[in-house]
Amino acid sequence: MTEKPLIIAGPCSVDTEYRFKSTLDYLLKYDIKYIRVGLHKPRTSPHSFQGLGEQAYNYISQLKKTTPFVVVSEILSESDFAGMDTFVDIYQVGSRNMDNYNLLKYLSKNTTKPVLLKRGASATVSEYLSAADYLNQTKANNTYLCLRGIRTFEQIDSVAMRNTPDLATILTLKDHTPLPILFDPSHSTGNYRYVNDVARAALVLGADGLMIETCTNPETALCDGQQSLNQQQFHRLLEQINYF
Ligand code: PEP
Ligand code: MN
Repeated sequence: MTEKPLIIAGPCSVDTEYRFKSTLDYLLKYDIKYIRVGLHKPRTSPHSFQGLGEQAYNYISQLKKTTPFVVVSEILSESDFAGMDTFVDIYQVGSRNMDNYNLLKYLSKNTTKPVLLKRGASATVSEYLSAADYLNQTKANNTYLCLRGIRTFEQIDSVAMRNTPDLATILTLKDHTPLPILFDPSHSTGNYRYVNDVARAALVLGADGLMIETCTNPETALCDGQQSLNQQQFHRLLEQINYF
């Protein structure tokens, strides 16, 4: 690979200012400017931390003024659009909303900003590409695809990964779309120990970039700490992929 892969990185969610700011600082030091800013979190359980939501809009907006970075943030609902649009640069539509066609149509109609569309955990490749077509109706080449693991029979076993990394799908997608293809080894595996190897495999197979969860003190993160790299592990990944 001659061109550097696109790296989108950051904590799963913004939970404390300290974790977010200290993570941002090391990412910017590594020249990574596309930052995960998880504010509205789609959690399986209503009892889990749901993200700071609107409470953190002002914090992110102000931080962006002093420390410019590219905000990649998941939108769960059309009703959040007006508040988020003042500081979001790339809208993420997560796995659970891949087939929320109203949300896709809404974004297609209301923004020219790029949208990063994750694959639904049970979506076929054709269904995924059709969902991406909703976004492309008005803005071809302004969409990023992001594979993040799928649900297969592996997950009936207690020793399985959180999802099955759909690595080979990079090859089939490349045959069927010119859109950039990112790979998320964090949600694919659910375990920080597997992230670096799966990330490298994705690049070998031709992924254009990676979305990685990394933060300061992942062991105390309120969401997905078990699959998040600490700074040292993230640094190691960048070395392994010759990012520097
Ligand atoms: C995320 O990236 O924060 C996320 C929730 O991922 P996914 O939609 O792939 O589960
Ligand atoms: Mn996460």
